[in-house]
Amino acid sequence: MDDFTEVLLSPVPALNKFCMHQCEKCGRSYRYRENLLRHIRVECGKEAQFHCLYCKYKSKQKNNLQRHLRCRHKISF
Ligand SMILES: [Zn+2]
Ligand SMILES: [Zn+2]
Repeated sequence: MDDFTEVLLSPVPALNKFCMHQCEKCGRSYRYRENLLRHIRVECGKEAQFHCLYCKYKSKQKNNLQRHLRCRHKISF
C-alpha cells in the first residue's frame, strides 16, 4: 500500500518538466508561458471566490462560474 501511494505522489517526470512551464508555488504546469502567467496572476494561492447559488460549485474566475451557470442551470447573462 505504501509503495502504491509513493508512485502516485512521485514528481512530474523530468521530460515533462523540461517542456512545460511549472508554477513554483503550487507545482501546476502549463504548456504555454502565458497560461502560467495567467495562473500566477489570477488563481495561484487564491481562494475560490465565485460561488454558485444553486449548487456547491465554486470557482476562482468569474468566467468559469458564468459558464457553469449557463451549462448546468441554463441561466444566461
Ligand atoms: Zn500556482
Ligand atoms: Zn451550480
